[in-house]
Amino acid sequence: MAAQNFQNYIGGRWQDAQGGRTFPNYNPATGELLGYFPLSERADVDAAVAVARAAFAKWRLTPAPRRGEILFRVGELLIRHKEELARIMTQEMGKVLKETRGDVQEGIDMAYYMAGEGRRLFGYSVPVELPNKSGLALRDSIGVVACITPWNFPVAIPTWKMFPALIAGNTIVFKPASDTPHSALRLVELLYEAGLPEGVVNIVFGAGATAGEALLQHPDVSVISFTGSTESGRHVAIEAAKSLKRVSLEMGGKNAVIVLDDADLDLAVEGLLWSAYGTTGQRCTACSRLIVSRTVQDALLAKLVPRIEQLRLGDGLDELVDVGPVINSKQLEQIHQYTEIGRTEGATLVTGGEVARDGELVRGNFYRPTLFKDVAATMRIAQEEIFGPTLSVIAVDSFEEAIEVNNNTKYGLSSSIYTRDVNRVQRAVRDITTGILYVNSGTTGAEIQFPFGGTRGTGNGHREAGLAGLDVFTEWKVVYTDYSGRLQKAQIDE
Ligand code: NAD
Repeated sequence: MAAQNFQNYIGGRWQDAQGGRTFPNYNPATGELLGYFPLSERADVDAAVAVARAAFAKWRLTPAPRRGEILFRVGELLIRHKEELARIMTQEMGKVLKETRGDVQEGIDMAYYMAGEGRRLFGYSVPVELPNKSGLALRDSIGVVACITPWNFPVAIPTWKMFPALIAGNTIVFKPASDTPHSALRLVELLYEAGLPEGVVNIVFGAGATAGEALLQHPDVSVISFTGSTESGRHVAIEAAKSLKRVSLEMGGKNAVIVLDDADLDLAVEGLLWSAYGTTGQRCTACSRLIVSRTVQDALLAKLVPRIEQLRLGDGLDELVDVGPVINSKQLEQIHQYTEIGRTEGATLVTGGEVARDGELVRGNFYRPTLFKDVAATMRIAQEEIFGPTLSVIAVDSFEEAIEVNNNTKYGLSSSIYTRDVNRVQRAVRDITTGILYVNSGTTGAEIQFPFGGTRGTGNGHREAGLAGLDVFTEWKVVYTDYSGRLQKAQIDE
């Protein structure tokens, strides 16, 4: 059967890239061709931005509660299409079905949360210093927002950007990752099925270096909301700064689970398996460092390693599979290169460390869940984001050393600490310098009503989700009304 051709959706019209070029998308578990998508260039981006700009004039004036009703219906449609979307995602990027269902659930949660914001979008009013005068701070919409997203959360991440942007009255050009175009396209179709006016969201497929770059440079794009690697994010910030765009960056991580000597080791094993090997280690919040008190290291690894070796690899559509493939062959190679780097650096490979080729696995990009011990905190495998199923174990001799090792990377997204000591928990809350801290659970699993993001090389100070997420997509406007009937001068002694 011939592979299906998909198109961009711009201003209510399905269209090919103007240059007529396409790119293929493959299933990473089977190598099967899933379809062809437009390889868009600057002209396609220009068309999408022009439509989004025109749509902004009306959309910003649509009452926010009405915008919220559309998002509420999007939430209902996501529930109805949860299984369909989960299957599309698993085929495109490989994570197992229970995780792709969770990915859609994040979108559902965000739809309902932001739908509710349609009746809040709180500004504030505070006393003013002169008589017969009032002051009001309002949240205003901004304009055209470019949403540039990665492949690892193909539905959730776009909803974390698009729903707050939409409720605040902005319009959107959406450029999804080239590894997960179909999931993105179905999400946009559901937005329109829910009643979104044409032109408010436009989707353009294509490479970061062409379609993405055109968005960064376009004078009519006011906000760039980007999630991806730190390397790409740095480039996005530099390029977008030339036209003074607002830029929100969610980037890489080197997240750690700390297991102290008084921890419940069985509980820690469950958290480690889920955080380090769930989504095949390809979460921005995935745990890639285990910082463990030296006195309990052997006992913990004696429980953990056999469980790692029992994880079943395979096609994520099979409900019995624990760990799916990695996204593509380039990433598979990079993960294996880090295994070589770890060996060369003198770490001890305890399990995994190789491409898995047995049986059906040979068709896809499978890597054995890997664990290194005797890792020094300064080694590259303990410092650089591998974005695969590789966990580095660093033994420490004190609580203070654990905190120092945790904080001493160029990333700062998520950390976790296992201990029964309330005093050490409170000291960790005070001293850990990541954007998220979990106590007695793994590093993954953010809830949408809280700010999400990280410090250092993980972000640029913005947060997604929760109320903080609205700050990226709104401009503060302050309105003073002087009803004294005479000129009153603020700050002037008379
Ligand atoms: P990536 O940086 O390669 O690509 C992300 C997106 O940016 C894609 O749509 C890509 O086409 C686009 N892009 C790339 N170069 C561009 C350019 N020059 N101009 C404009 N757009 C460009 O990242 P990826 O491989 O898709 O995703 C994995 C990375 O994402 C990891 O580093 C992971 O930690 C990170 N991530 C972070 C978070 C978070 O919230 N902090 C969440 C998920 C993933």
